Amino acid sequence: MNPTVSVILTSYNRPHTIQKAIESVLNQTYTSWELLIMDDNSHKDTVQIIKRYLGNKKIHYFNSNIQDSERYKTTRYATLINEAIPKTTGKYITYLTDDNEFLPDRFTVMTNFMNQNPGIHAVYSKQRVRFIMGNGKISKQRTRKTYGILNQAAGYVDHCSVMHTREVADKIFDKYGSYWDEDPKHWFNGDAAFWNRLTQVTPFYPIDKILDVAYKDSNSFQNLYMHMPKRIPDGTLVKGPSTEVFLIEKQCRRKIARELFSELKYSNGKVVNIPDPFVYKYNEGTPIDFSIFTSAQLLPIQRLIRSEQKAEIFYLQNKKKHLIPSPKIFNEYHFNSEEIVIINDRIIKNIDSGPAFKSLAAADEIIPDGVLYLFNNSYYYSENNSLLHISPQTAVKLKLPVNNPVRVDSSFIQKFAKSNYTI
Ligand code: UDP
Ligand code: MG
Repeated sequence: MNPTVSVILTSYNRPHTIQKAIESVLNQTYTSWELLIMDDNSHKDTVQIIKRYLGNKKIHYFNSNIQDSERYKTTRYATLINEAIPKTTGKYITYLTDDNEFLPDRFTVMTNFMNQNPGIHAVYSKQRVRFIMGNGKISKQRTRKTYGILNQAAGYVDHCSVMHTREVADKIFDKYGSYWDEDPKHWFNGDAAFWNRLTQVTPFYPIDKILDVAYKDSNSFQNLYMHMPKRIPDGTLVKGPSTEVFLIEKQCRRKIARELFSELKYSNGKVVNIPDPFVYKYNEGTPIDFSIFTSAQLLPIQRLIRSEQKAEIFYLQNKKKHLIPSPKIFNEYHFNSEEIVIINDRIIKNIDSGPAFKSLAAADEIIPDGVLYLFNNSYYYSENNSLLHISPQTAVKLKLPVNNPVRVDSSFIQKFAKSNYTI
């Protein structure tokens, strides 16, 4: 009997690629395998595809039933893998993500190598990486190489390019109390964190052949997660791959009704794409729907408003309206006249008034929130009348106008910047 290869496939809302992933296991020339599909409570479209394969006795399906609000708490795929390993029965373990496919000879080549070298407990291969554009076409591809025998595999070897023995996994469990490290700080590199554990116990042996293909699109986790701040500041528009657009307001997420998006002068260029788990991390607040036009309390923060009848322009922040007293001040803070939302005068009257904004030079306690400032090559973002230091990369991630910040002087910074206060 050939030893069994246990495949752990982690799945979350990828209806367009999950089928390819599953079939790449079915198409293996090596037939002694079991496939554990660990689905992280995907929407129906993905689950329906998975269910088509459940007639096959070698395929087992588990649904985590995770609540969206809980997703961000652990590195989910690490959690799913930790639940899967005890359920596996194979001598060998290998990992597949729902945006990857194995080439047909992968199990044959890898098991041959390990069967012939019984002292070897982990192997890795080359990988083809294909970049996919919005229309589904491949824009470019590259090859992830092998680098000889590795005593340090983190950063060199992908999630889907490894096979190791169950025996070595159990050694890791004895040493660390878990297989993969589920700490959410590893969302970005959970595989590398596990390789760091594995290489404490065994080196990784190379197989100089391409044995799997990774597909990367703009929604790949790494893309969405890169430069994302721990805490997304108020005033940011966010969207996950399978979520609607939300406004972060008082650290809650307010769903913006589609029909109102352009009426409120929002633009797609300002929407920050982040992974679903980090959207759901924010508690759901009152939706931004048509009721905002009847109740002053429901209007979203950081909007410019004006009535049909009057020329006065206000900016909304902290449930108050602040007058922008002159075109000069309007321009100083780089407000955009195309973003002025017209609101019924009665509603505007019902909004509590805060102090009018003053010019940059005269500002003392109140400044507009949601503005990007620059002083001495450092960027700052204003939130609750304070300046938060922000790195250029994070400012780009948050779609802030890094090429057109409001330039300020040291006295402005001294008045409004809080030390140790960073985004
Ligand atoms: N994943 C998950 N739960 C989630 C989000 C993602 O189980 O809430 C899984 C996803 O199905 C995939 C893995 O995490 O198997 C890694 O994600 P991805 O392939 O997007 O990462 P990248 O290729 O960008 O590194
Ligand atoms: Mg991936």
